[in-house]
Amino acid sequence: MTFILGLTGGIGSGKSAASTWFEAQGITVVDADIVAREIVEKGQPALQQIHAAFGDWVLLDNAELNRRALREHIFKDPNARKVLESITHPAIRQSIIQQLQAATSPYVILVSPLLFETNQHELTDHSLLIDATEELQIQRASQRDGQSIEQIQKIIQAQMPRQKKRSLANDIVLNDGHLDHLYSHLKPLHNAYLQRSKQKKAVD
Ligand code: ADP
Repeated sequence: MTFILGLTGGIGSGKSAASTWFEAQGITVVDADIVAREIVEKGQPALQQIHAAFGDWVLLDNAELNRRALREHIFKDPNARKVLESITHPAIRQSIIQQLQAATSPYVILVSPLLFETNQHELTDHSLLIDATEELQIQRASQRDGQSIEQIQKIIQAQMPRQKKRSLANDIVLNDGHLDHLYSHLKPLHNAYLQRSKQKKAVD
């Protein structure tokens, strides 16, 4: 089995910037956010289970998931959130495992904003945190998404505190300079991961 790196960081920390750099080095990246959307696409078993659990209102006329209605529903009803997550979490995990196993690059990356929160780090051999101050997170995320500072602060508060993530991660890159500064920190880590992957393959 290939060496698997878990890549995480709070909103606006620079996870996507880092994973794009790794992809340019030929490393396959599995994105947990993309997987979470794929498993509820039209015709997917998880969407059929959500339909069965919640009823017809959860589907749009074109049989796609009515994300907005579902979001509002689980916001009002914590039990409904549990039901939803009991359907989506195992499906996400299974799909992530399949995609990680199918990868043929020297090592493979699982990028997830909730790597530790959802125990997805258990699927990985090693973790890398892209870290940034809250001030930088807010500045970058608001420029990227046009969201208000309050909205971004709410998302930051719902995520695991920065210090806790720092205590759990194996490697940490502080993304507090230009992008070239970020890349210069990623390069030696990439070389180390290539080595780790060779060692892992030799043992297998
Ligand atoms: P995340 O995926 O962690 O939410 P992104 O990688 O999308 O964060 O970064 C948020 C925004 O900030 C993006 O527009 C990205 O291009 C920009 N960005 C990230 N790191 C830097 C940096 N070191 N210097 C300048 N802009 C950056």
